[in-house]
Amino acid sequence: MDLKEIRSQFPILSQTVNGKPLVYFDNAATTQKPNTVIDIVNEYHSRWNANVHRGVHQLSNVCTDAAEAAREKIARFINAAASDEIIFTQGTTDSINLVAETFGRAFIKPGDEILVSQTEHHSNFVPWQQIALRYNARFVVFDCHDSGEWDMNDFYAKINAKTKLVAVGHVSNALGTVNPIKDVIDKAHSLGIPVLVDGAQAIQHIPVDVQALDVDFYVFSGHKIYGPTGIGVLYAKTQWLEALPPYRYGGEMISKVTNTYSEFNNLPYKFEAGTPNYIGQIGFGAAIDFISQFEVQQIATYEHKLLRYAEQKLSDLEGVVIYGKSDEKAAVVSFLIDGIHPYDLGVLLDKTGIAVRTGNHCAQPLMTRLGIFGTVRASFAFYNTFEEIDYFAEMLRKIIPMLK
Ligand code: PMP
Repeated sequence: MDLKEIRSQFPILSQTVNGKPLVYFDNAATTQKPNTVIDIVNEYHSRWNANVHRGVHQLSNVCTDAAEAAREKIARFINAAASDEIIFTQGTTDSINLVAETFGRAFIKPGDEILVSQTEHHSNFVPWQQIALRYNARFVVFDCHDSGEWDMNDFYAKINAKTKLVAVGHVSNALGTVNPIKDVIDKAHSLGIPVLVDGAQAIQHIPVDVQALDVDFYVFSGHKIYGPTGIGVLYAKTQWLEALPPYRYGGEMISKVTNTYSEFNNLPYKFEAGTPNYIGQIGFGAAIDFISQFEVQQIATYEHKLLRYAEQKLSDLEGVVIYGKSDEKAAVVSFLIDGIHPYDLGVLLDKTGIAVRTGNHCAQPLMTRLGIFGTVRASFAFYNTFEEIDYFAEMLRKIIPMLK
């Protein structure tokens, strides 16, 4: 991969922050956008904008075709069996709420159980907890080890005939751990239980094949894979999309409306009420085109080298504790420095042009389990460089004594 060439396609990367060249290590929160994504969003707003699906005129048809082409691209990217299995949502959180609300309404009864892991992002935790409360079901959490890896014995102990759904993350946003989701899916399926996988931190880092995984629901956000904000995907097997009731009601999701009843539209539109974020979809499609120039495996290999390099550099510093110890990790390093508040470190790093995230990373149950309130998190994308990590380590070396 020609890094210089890749970086030149992301205009934000060549700017300064606080008078210093930007070093953007907050990619788990959101990734930057290449010119192709920025340009296509601009082009469709300035040349082609018209509402989709209902038009007879040219602009509407152009937008509709481009928005639907994005659905096809995403289906191919994750190897879905059909593009109708791709539902556009506002993002990962919206996708999970869609499944939680509709699955809850259709299938969750008092005494049922919903099983999640201790390492989930709040958006794959709170919706299930609230659905369980609403239907008098049990919300069950399986444990992780101090390393951040799942305690699979606890998972095998807690899954049972009462479990109605398992919801787990593919990659931990807080620690970077790549989780053994295939083992979870196989075990759940042996008991006839469907599995939802939160792929928000996996889709941009590791190849995902939903058919090979045999996963029932797989969700992710456009903005974490170089696309626009406000657009995301719910992939679900057709059998589930047929079985679940609609999420929201309104235009587009109906085929017939009378004063007394309505009939719902075919897939995927049954789950896409109202005017969709069609320009977001088109931008998302451009992001998929962008990333498809590379092998995702090639990206993963490079990012893994960045990760191990950063972990090594951090370990050389006194008082650093890295959270998330696993052989299987995506490009996230979470750490604390003895006696220093993460927030103070984050603020001083910002003064040097380095953007990291501090806090609980929307994973309070995990932080509580690890006995900490938060960490400093540096998360990488394939446009980051070893030189940036050297600079990061050098700045930490200067900052640490100032905060002690
Ligand atoms: N799950 C994980 C693992 C995440 O990292 C995030 C974003 N931080 C989300 C869910 C929520 O994604 P969004 O905010 O795009 O809905």
